[in-house]
Amino acid sequence: MGRVTASLADLPLRDDLRGLTPYGAPQVPLPVALNVNENSHPLPDEVASDILDDIAVALRDVNRYPDREFTALREGFAGYLGHGLDASQIWAGNGSNEVLQHVLQAFAGPGRTAFGFAPTYSMYPLLAQGTGARWAAGTRQSDYTLTAVDAAAQIRDADPDVVMLCRPNNPTGTPLGIDVIEAVYEATRGVVVVDEAYWEFAPRGAVSALTLLEGRPRLAVSRTMSKAFAFAGARVGYLAADPAFIDALRLVRLPYHLSALTQAAAVAALRNSSTMLAMVDDIVEQRDRITATLEALGYQPHESWSNFVLFGGVADPKATFQALYDRGVLVRDVGIPNHLRVTAGTESETTAFLDALASIESAS
Ligand code: PMP
Repeated sequence: MGRVTASLADLPLRDDLRGLTPYGAPQVPLPVALNVNENSHPLPDEVASDILDDIAVALRDVNRYPDREFTALREGFAGYLGHGLDASQIWAGNGSNEVLQHVLQAFAGPGRTAFGFAPTYSMYPLLAQGTGARWAAGTRQSDYTLTAVDAAAQIRDADPDVVMLCRPNNPTGTPLGIDVIEAVYEATRGVVVVDEAYWEFAPRGAVSALTLLEGRPRLAVSRTMSKAFAFAGARVGYLAADPAFIDALRLVRLPYHLSALTQAAAVAALRNSSTMLAMVDDIVEQRDRITATLEALGYQPHESWSNFVLFGGVADPKATFQALYDRGVLVRDVGIPNHLRVTAGTESETTAFLDALASIESAS
């Protein structure tokens, strides 16, 4: 049979998917990749070999389906999160993207609305629309912050079924007050997901949304092992919520969605969490160095509680992106006029980025 050359437009695709663009951050092998907010520190050797031992054991039973309830992993996450949580309040998936997809499949869907304050994580609209739901975008102040009064008013107006609160926000790095979450929860009849994917990079002593779970059955807090844990390639994300909320997610997940190898790797990684998280302080130091140096170069970095910095004052983001690319440094053009976003890397990667930027142009 010859190669089929139909285009997407020729296929009987769902009408509501026509014209959408898939997620597509460039994956190119540049020496300094600072574009998708990974942790660029490799796993410590001793952790890697501990994980491998557990994978080897799991492999011997791989002829059988895995534990559909991933009980050991849920217990591991409950222990890591603390706050008195137990396994009945934990869910997990292949990355927090899948966890968020489960939430949207259960609570959004055709005829329903999911809502977030733009600019925010680019996958929220795609995941929502993938379930057949409508995506509604609210607004932020000019510095990307949100106040409780304004956020609640926007929510009352939009009357969504699902609210996505990204905390700190991607792509801006902006923190979000606990008071805003409380006000949003009170203002909606829908479910509220606080996405704390970057939480480990927030200042010590900052209060997690996990503290709000008690007595709020429509609230969920999602996290990931892709960032602070340096585990992006393993694809493990998780969520904490009321046990009834978790039961709703069981309705939409595929049976055995977390492979035995993933479960084994993640349980072993959690056992080593203190070693795996040892790099967080270094990354925060590099993030703060990026902010200070960008300011000195005349750019306008935004406050960040994450492992990346969004900065304004870029006269021509496409040209600066390309000039950095030509010097072996990959950053992200997130489509905000006059802005670029960069992930805090290792000390030498961060230096490579800052030196390259200083060599190409001055800020506008
Ligand atoms: N939430 C936010 C805010 C993110 O930035 C990302 C990844 N960039 C995710 C969720 C999903 O990450 P993962 O699926 O790797 O857990």
